[in-house]
This record gives sequence, structure tokens and C-alpha cells, in this order.
Amino acid sequence: MASTETQAGGHAGGAAADERVISVENPATGEVIGTVPDLSAEAVAELAARARAAQPAWEALGFEGRARVMLRAQKWLIDNAERVIRTIVSETGKTWEDAQTAEISYGAAAFGFWARHAEDYLADEKVRTSNLIAKGRRLVVRYKPLGLIGVIGPWNYPLTNSFGDCIPALMAGNAVILKPSEVTPLTSLLLAEGMRECGLPEDVLQVATGGGDTGRAVVDEVDMIMFTGSTRTGRLVARQAAERLIPCSLELGGKDAMIVLADADLERAANTAVWAGFMNGGQTCVSTERIYVEAPVYDEFVAKVTEKARRLRQGVPTGFGTVDVGAVTFPPQADIIESHVRDALDKGARALVGGRRREGPGRFFEPTVLVDVDHSMAAMTEETFGPTLPIMKVADAEEAIRLANDSPYGLAASVFSRDVARAEAIARRLEAGAVNVNDALLNYAVLELPMGGWKASGLGSRHGAGGIRKYCAQQAILVSRLHPRRDVHHFPYDARRSRLISRLFRLLYGRGRRD
Ligand code: NDP
Repeated sequence: MASTETQAGGHAGGAAADERVISVENPATGEVIGTVPDLSAEAVAELAARARAAQPAWEALGFEGRARVMLRAQKWLIDNAERVIRTIVSETGKTWEDAQTAEISYGAAAFGFWARHAEDYLADEKVRTSNLIAKGRRLVVRYKPLGLIGVIGPWNYPLTNSFGDCIPALMAGNAVILKPSEVTPLTSLLLAEGMRECGLPEDVLQVATGGGDTGRAVVDEVDMIMFTGSTRTGRLVARQAAERLIPCSLELGGKDAMIVLADADLERAANTAVWAGFMNGGQTCVSTERIYVEAPVYDEFVAKVTEKARRLRQGVPTGFGTVDVGAVTFPPQADIIESHVRDALDKGARALVGGRRREGPGRFFEPTVLVDVDHSMAAMTEETFGPTLPIMKVADAEEAIRLANDSPYGLAASVFSRDVARAEAIARRLEAGAVNVNDALLNYAVLELPMGGWKASGLGSRHGAGGIRKYCAQQAILVSRLHPRRDVHHFPYDARRSRLISRLFRLLYGRGRRD
């Protein structure tokens, strides 16, 4: 596998010979495939010092110079797609298709997207004012890279969710320290090596491998932190960022609901549900985690989902087309999935498909379809992050909306109906940062659309203008080109002038007129 190769070429440096190491495991086979250093806070501080030294020249390169590196990296990713897929698959246990569709394609698109759009999103904005006192001034909002960005990523998408956030941060002109999950560090190391081959200057992007302590050390060093992971750790990161008064952007857990109305195209809804629930083994922040179906079509929808889920092949991914559902990447996750399914079954649910953890080697949980579920069950209310689809019958759309919103989370959701106007009206009533109509997950691939959670699902967003402006300090500039020696509001205060100003205010604002 790619690990030893990756390690040698990609390690960020800073680890002494006697430093602790982390073993990386292939979750589909149980084999140890490599080791990486578990960096100390001192080592992270060294990386940060080097990054800060390298950043000004990277910023000075300008958008065009940085875009050239990104576009070379885009080609590098496609030229090396098989090597990257092998690395992703080896440390996550996901299928080759999941690595290609949701990681390679995302990374390749993101390199091109940010290379082309960064300059537009970060261009100076001319502003006009209605304030008479400031009339005639030149007013500009400009965006300046913050300097050093920390990206802390999870294990479910080592390219998309970890490395992917480095791309806009770098395009904005920042240096970046990426702290990948300790479970899946090899992909980040390989990509950092690829970026160097494409001409990214030394130390502009560094990978700090390690566990939670390394993550904390990164937050201590950077000017802004982009975090993706659990709500629990997200709160810790936000607290630490607050102590340092640095901005943070958080993409956290979700419990995404799908609503299937009686007039939906049930074949499409069932195909989408099975894919959005089981792709990547259900380990996607925007996986479909619970489904509400209107009573008249409930039985037919369940029959379709059940039949499709039964046909899914699960096992060790060895190439394209070998399996449909891969392994459970994160060791404790199998216990969480099992406990949610057990809790549901104990409270009266039935598993129409699956329902069990598979015997090793490797860590697998069967694709599972649960019915007779309700909100007393963890499977309907807590993030399962595994291959489970609990389906609940509802009387009507109103009940579906109420239940979909009965959650501390608000990441994404979907609504299925042939009446797209009605479905969109329902989408607007859902408490979620993104809603797909007659689709699921797709919004994530649209880099023009902001992706960010409501409620306990996060703060801020990735993608779109906000997805790169957050890596910058915003500066407002006011230039008085005509400069009389004294303005009307300057000292000394004078009663006659003040009364004139009062009259002016009355004229401007006192007539109850809307301008
Ligand atoms: P965490 O939120 O704990 O980890 C995410 C990242 O944060 C990892 O790189 C982790 O390092 C790092 N980290 C851990 N503690 C700290 C800290 N105190 N300060 C800074 N960084 C830290 O997620 P888990 O991997 O433990 O997964 C737990 C749950 O999170 C899952 O069961 C799932 O429900 C949810 N999750 C949500 C994701 C999403 O996309 N929204 C993605 C992954 C998980 P390390 O891995 O080395 O501990």
C-alpha cells in the first residue's frame, strides 16, 4: 500500500527520532499499513514558525501565481488518481467508487474552482453610501489573508473534508497547517507531497500528524481555525478559539432527514435514499440518517428500499465495482452504530435488512433498514454515522416537517415530491443549512453554494464567497479625496450649525418616507 512511500515523502518534519508514533490501520482488513509521528506542541510551534516565514512570499505571488500551482495540482491529482484512491481506500476502508466520486472529483473540481474564482471573491468591493456626511468619499472593502490557517479534519473524507479546506485557504494567500485525523493521516501527507511537486513553496502547507493534543496545539498557533468533526470536539475548539479571540468555522455533526411525500417518484426517492444512506458506509456528514414517509406510500417505499438494500455487496474493496459498501473507518464508531440499532430493536423497531456487526477481519456493519421507529430511539435522534436507514411513517407533510425539525442538528435535508413548488416551500420550513429537492448530498458538490450547518451542526460555511472570505481579514477603507480644512461636524460645536443639521435630519429622515 501507499503508506511507507507516503510517510517518507510527505512527513511535515519536526518529529525527533524518539517521538511517539501513531499506527495507521486498514479498517477493511485490520492490517497496520503505516506509522506517522504524533507531533508534540513544540513540534507544531516549529511548523507554525516556518509557515509564518513562508507566507509573505506566497501572498506576494498574487492570485495568478497561486492559481498556476493549483491548476498544476489539479492535473497532478488526476494523473495520480489511482495512487490517491489506493491511499484513501487503504486508510478508510471505503469503496473505490466512494473515493473517486466524493473525493477525487471534489478535489479536482476544488483546485480549479478556487484557482478561477478566488480573485473575484476577494477583489476589492466598491461601496456607495447614502450617508450625506460621507458622500464624495471613496469607500472600499478589501480582503487580506489572515496569515496562518489551521485546518483540522475528520476521518470520513481525508481528501474532501480535510485537505479540501486547505485549497481556498491557500488560494487566499495564507499558509496552512493541516491536522488530519490520526486515523487517516496518509492521504494528507500524500497530497502535501503532490502540492510540493506542483511548485507549492516549502512550508506554505504543512501536515501536523497527531491526535487531539496535536489538534489543540494547532489551535494555539494559528490565526483562524477551520474544523470539521463532532459537535462535542467542535465546542472545545470554539472555546479555545474564543480564548485566543481568533475566528473559527465549524462543520459538525448532523442527523439529516429525508421527507418522502405521497406524490413522489418513489423509484427515484428509494434509489437516492439507499445511496445517500449507505454511500461511504453512511459516514458522510450529510448522509441521509432518517426518513419520514407519508402513510399512503409508506409500504411501497419501504419495499423498494428493502429490496435495493438487500442487493448491496459489502466487503474489502479491491478495485472499482468490487463492493458497494465498505468498512467502518473509526474503531469506536462500530460501537455507536451497534448501540443505536440495539436500542431501536429493544424499543420495538424491526430490522428488515442487516442489523448486525460482521465478524472480522476488518470492521464492518451490515447495511441496515429499520422500520417501526420513533423519536424515543437514538437511531432517530442521535448521529449514527453508519450504514443505517430508519424509516418512519407519518400522517402528512406537517408531521414530517415537525419531526424533521425535532433535532438539535441542522446540517442538511431533502424533500421528494413531483410538486416541486410545494417541495421547495417545505424546504424553506426545514431547519437545515442545505436542502435538496428530489436529490440528496448533491449540494455539497456545488462549490458556488454555501455549505454550513444550523443549530448544533456548525458555525460559518464552506464554499461560495463566504468559503474563502472567512480566511481573510476584512478591511474597510474610506478615502476623503476632497479635504476641506474643516468638516461641518468638527469642533468647535456651534449652536447655529447644529440647528441646521437638526433641520437637515428632519428633512432627510423625519417625513416617514421610505427612500
Ligand atoms: P472528532 O471531532 O473528535 O475529531 C475531529 C478532528 O479533531 C480529528 O482530527 C481529531 O483528532 C481532532 N481533535 C480531537 N480532539 C481535539 C481537540 N480537543 N482540539 C482540536 N482537535 C481535536 O471526531 P471523531 O473522529 O472522534 O468522531 C466522533 C464523531 O464525530 C463521530 O462519531 C461522528 O458522529 C462525528 N463526525 C462528524 C464528521 C463530519 O463530517 N461532520 C466527521 C467525522 C466525525 P484525532 O482524530 O486525532 O483524535
